[in-house]
Amino acid sequence: MEIIKDISGIKDRLSNEKKAGHNIGLVPTMGYLHEGHLNLIKKAVENNDVVVVSIFVNPTQFGPEEDYEEYPRDLDRDARLAKKTGVDYIFSPEPDEMYFADHSTFVQVEELTDRLCGAFREGHFRGVATVVSKLFNIIMPDKAYFGQKDFQQFVILKRMVRDLNIPVAMERIPTVREEDGLAVSSRNKYLSERGRETAAVLYKSLKKARSLIKKGENDPEKIKNKIEAMIQKHDLTEIEYIEIVDPETLKSREEIRDKVVIALAVYVEETRLIDNIYLDREEIPHA
Ligand code: AMP
Repeated sequence: MEIIKDISGIKDRLSNEKKAGHNIGLVPTMGYLHEGHLNLIKKAVENNDVVVVSIFVNPTQFGPEEDYEEYPRDLDRDARLAKKTGVDYIFSPEPDEMYFADHSTFVQVEELTDRLCGAFREGHFRGVATVVSKLFNIIMPDKAYFGQKDFQQFVILKRMVRDLNIPVAMERIPTVREEDGLAVSSRNKYLSERGRETAAVLYKSLKKARSLIKKGENDPEKIKNKIEAMIQKHDLTEIEYIEIVDPETLKSREEIRDKVVIALAVYVEETRLIDNIYLDREEIPHA
């Protein structure tokens, strides 16, 4: 495995790989790798000749009040885990390698970016879409792997790829969870012991919602109220949003039918956590 920090270096290596007829899988990350990332990497290793993991804490997707400086970083540890999992190249550029000082072009996906997290994190998805399109142009992967945990991100990037005719297959991989159901995240390390215990209520409330829907409840307000009540019982939590949306448009659903995603963002102590579940047709009884 090689760690490459410059754009020309990774392009050289990959152009040789392509000449050798190898197809390329890309897993974009911000590093501090955990089981969620490693699961994406495993899928990429299974299905591609060559796997590139990008590790880049992307400044343009953090708001001024967000945790860009504090975001955890540990390239040596990441490299060990990546190597063990079968990665061929880590692409880990510094910000000034990725962005010219006078960088002035951004990728803006309309509407989808206004909903859910986008309503609270201005400019976040513009930063994500911009950096991922840059990574696609640099790496030119055949397949790219993303987690269900960031469902809105996946929907936005998939739309971007379609709208801009980017020749990459987009793969969505299920959320990896801790034993108590909490979605694995680099940000979980910010939680105190009590915060960490509290955080399990997010997935617990989503599971409860799933079981109510399976039993025939089809009023989104009732479901949202139930989730809210479960979370609010814990004094360390502050709900940002709970939404039940169409998985393609991300618009709120008036009634639970067909397929839906239930998504939420909740502060536990100072840490903003997100989670979601996808219910497909088979799980929703028809009225
Ligand atoms: P990040 O490093 O947080 O930007 O995440 C990089 C990729 O890993 C994104 O596609 C995330 O959706 C994915 N990811 C993060 N956490 C998980 C998880 N618990 N399960 C599955 N995928 C995840």
